[in-house]
Amino acid sequence: MASSTLTIDLDAVVSNWRALAKISSGETAAVVKADAYGLGVSRVAKALASAGARQFFVATAEEGATLRRELGDGITINLFAGHMAGDADMIHDLSLTPMINSIEQLQRHLEALPQAPFGVQLDTGMNRLGMEPAEWAALSDLVLSQNPTLLMSHLACADEAGHAMNEHQLRNFREMTEGTGVPRSLSATGGIILGEAFHFDLTRPGIGLYGGKPFELATPVAYLEVPVIQVRDVAAGESVGYGNAYIADTPRRVATLAAGYADGLIRAMSGNASAYYGQTDCPLLGRVSMDMIAADITRLSETPASLTLLGRQQSVDELATAAGTIGYEILTSLGARYTRRYSGG
Ligand SMILES: *Cc1c(COP(=O)(O)O)cnc(C)c1O
Repeated sequence: MASSTLTIDLDAVVSNWRALAKISSGETAAVVKADAYGLGVSRVAKALASAGARQFFVATAEEGATLRRELGDGITINLFAGHMAGDADMIHDLSLTPMINSIEQLQRHLEALPQAPFGVQLDTGMNRLGMEPAEWAALSDLVLSQNPTLLMSHLACADEAGHAMNEHQLRNFREMTEGTGVPRSLSATGGIILGEAFHFDLTRPGIGLYGGKPFELATPVAYLEVPVIQVRDVAAGESVGYGNAYIADTPRRVATLAAGYADGLIRAMSGNASAYYGQTDCPLLGRVSMDMIAADITRLSETPASLTLLGRQQSVDELATAAGTIGYEILTSLGARYTRRYSGG
């Protein structure tokens, strides 16, 4: 039996990066953490580097090391997690640029690698990562004397254009960084859409590259095709799957598909999401199993060899909404068992 196939359109990734770069007033980096949001950092980052991306962001030093081996020299690789204990050798040997988050990290970095480049992450209100205003006020003279490569912060509510938090964080970021002469970066995908005031010198899109909201004009990137293992007729009153969660009201034709929650089709999709055959909606029935999922194909006039979970009829965000989550979680959950095909790039 053919396995489920995840097709990743690298030309679409590049075209999304170019579109976001065109909107951005400064330089545009690419965020490729978590294996490029589950789509494969090697192919994705190479395609983006060929298209002209010169700055990349990942979460950890391990991810940075992988990326350096893929891309070679001449590309800046920034680490959101900063300089963590035990990472000095990797940061040095693979020329990674940590975004320093705290005084502890600053001490660690300056002691272990006094000449090595670093940026600084500032907390402008999200309370997740970065130096807070008081900490920054105390450290900024010392930090600026060491020529940091970047001052960055992250917006908590950038996907909601009217949210007061955006202006609040923008004001804080300006106050903390104005007049430093150091390149600045505030915006991920959402901040790019908010407008030029949020762009500064470098933008850092992630999800928009991969076809997700809030970049509404994104070209879809991920296509997921799942083969049908077996088809059966279910009589009215009979149930489908674990817990008898679905009971047929009328006779149904049911296809069992070869992917489940172990492949990232999360259980919250049970009874809520659909697969598609061409343009025809085939609702998922009952509970998602580990390796299988059932779909109602009563409306089809033929027996399909496979159904589509992600494609023209259903975007990553539509599938996410059906499952009560966000596109980011759907993409980063996509499983290791899929046959991955890359087109373009
Ligand atoms: C993940 C991340 C990004 C990219 O965010 P998207 O919403 O995917 O564009 C940018 N900056 C930071 C600090 C991040 O953690």
